[in-house]
Amino acid sequence: MVDQNKIREAARLLLEGIGEDPDREGLKETPERIARMYEEIFAGMGRDGREELGKVFTVENSEMVLERDITFYSMCEHHMLPFYGKAHVAYIPNGRVVGLSKLARTVEIYAGRLQVQERMTGQIADAVMKYLAPRGVMVVLEAEHTCMTMRGVRKPGSRTVTTAARGVFLEDESLQNRFFQLLNLS
Ligand code: ZN
Repeated sequence: MVDQNKIREAARLLLEGIGEDPDREGLKETPERIARMYEEIFAGMGRDGREELGKVFTVENSEMVLERDITFYSMCEHHMLPFYGKAHVAYIPNGRVVGLSKLARTVEIYAGRLQVQERMTGQIADAVMKYLAPRGVMVVLEAEHTCMTMRGVRKPGSRTVTTAARGVFLEDESLQNRFFQLLNLS
């Protein structure tokens, strides 16, 4: 749970720090808006994948399940600027599956906090392994980091791709290849 008072105070200080007048008309409500916004974009704080991945259905088959192009927005912990893009999550069931929206919600939980993309990728994979217990999971995140595109090296449109493989995806390279083939279909 975020402390809205602290955020309001900090936002006011930030405005003063950049030489603004926090009391001018356009900025009067800004600390309040930032406090409410942070509550929303950091809604993943203190949560984990259990709440989404805990409800499972029993299935017979063990064919790959792929949920691709899950849009996400997160905040980089080095600059507190957004990075955003798509997540692709695949798993090989071990007698259990979850509703497809649950994978998207799991991505949302781990995006809803200060992140580095590599860690977020691993956290999603680990949560699926832990709570759904499939034979293996593969996660790919592709994202644009605004800390690289609107400042610093300024490379608009450049994307960072991270991957995490667990279980049979680690052991069986042909499974990883099939995953990437499926991703290239569109
Ligand atoms: Zn950054």
